[in-house]
Amino acid sequence: MHATFYPPRFLLIDCNNFFASCERIFRPDLEGKPVIVLSNNDGCVIARSNEAKALGIAMGEPFFRIKPFAEARHIAVFSSNFSLYRDISHRVMDTVESVVGREVEQYSIDECFVPLTPSLAANVADVAISLRETVRRHVNIPVSIGIGSTRTLAKLACYVAKKKVSGNVYDIGGDAGERERLFADIPVDEVWGIGRRKGKKLRMVGIRTVRDFVRSDEDWIKRFLTVTGYHTLMELRGIPLITDVVRGAEERKSIVVSRSFGEKIRSREELVKALSTFVSKACVQLRQSGLVAGDMTLYFESSRFGENVVRKEWQTRFMRPTNDTRTMVHEVIRGLSAVYEQGPRYARGGVLLCSLQREGEVCGNLLFLDREEEDARQKKLMRVLDAVNRKYTGNASLRYAVLGGRDAQWHMRQERLSGFGKEGWNNLPVAKCR
Ligand SMILES: [Mg+2]
Repeated sequence: MHATFYPPRFLLIDCNNFFASCERIFRPDLEGKPVIVLSNNDGCVIARSNEAKALGIAMGEPFFRIKPFAEARHIAVFSSNFSLYRDISHRVMDTVESVVGREVEQYSIDECFVPLTPSLAANVADVAISLRETVRRHVNIPVSIGIGSTRTLAKLACYVAKKKVSGNVYDIGGDAGERERLFADIPVDEVWGIGRRKGKKLRMVGIRTVRDFVRSDEDWIKRFLTVTGYHTLMELRGIPLITDVVRGAEERKSIVVSRSFGEKIRSREELVKALSTFVSKACVQLRQSGLVAGDMTLYFESSRFGENVVRKEWQTRFMRPTNDTRTMVHEVIRGLSAVYEQGPRYARGGVLLCSLQREGEVCGNLLFLDREEEDARQKKLMRVLDAVNRKYTGNASLRYAVLGGRDAQWHMRQERLSGFGKEGWNNLPVAKCR
């Protein structure tokens, strides 16, 4: 018997101006009006609605500088509310899963990939529209959707959907001529995994657009941008090489590591191990990207398909933004002591790191002036940890004992219940109509 070969296809769904859109849910009067969201302590702009973008407000702009302008133009200004954003994110992901009938790969607080099954792929245009409409109806968040034969192409398609297409859905499909014209029009920096730093490097040797990049020699790219650049190139040519979605962190505003547990967890100790493992992974991503995080949220919940869904969440803000595994694991233990509830069997959990910034750009804090030596030591330890783990399979050979054994039951991925039967609807927000 011959197995039928289905070319892989991926869909990326990305919430538009996510934080600003979250604020609008509770302020429908702000629809069509400029909205901005500020970072911790109302320091600078971290999200803008399209109307605010059109007024020329830049990302990262210090608020004090634009305050008079914001007042004059009646721009709605919000302090960031990560607990709200995480909750909305959860609802968006739930809704996407209920529509596609399978578990999604959450990539950041407001984006996820859906690897398409053959039946989803066959109706991908309808699936995309149904996703866009359902998320809008159930959570009231506008989204953009990109579709492609690799995750990198799906990401690029989403960029096109956002910038150039009405309806916010774009499929980088079969027509080679169209793709060529499209690629010639997009700066190479916009490619997932290229970003600003590699983009600058490429521009210096005359590679400016996606088309220039796709036409480059692959061996040369491997030398010039290492193997990750090579993977990006091949993905743009339609060959899927990226199997996890942890890359490109340097362009992100948040890092999420979240999973369904293979076997449900019923003790605090096991949960500490699982969430510590997640946060360790997130820390590796931070360090690889030269970033530190200012806020951490951990969460866990009983099965979404059960009767009474128990969902727990705990948040902390670091006195100094950090990427130190030890500090974060410590916080996980502290958080679980605070919110863990004995009884329910927990089916899923995760860690979200927000308020990311470049390691070198963290403002000093007078309270920590005497900590430089300790910091240097800790940094060295993390470098050794990462180097050892890279060398030996990269599978966390060296890790904190609190993470537990690699054979723990929760490591295994749970097969998701498929279809969206009536259980799935229970988790949608309840609308009260009058
Ligand atoms: Mg987004």
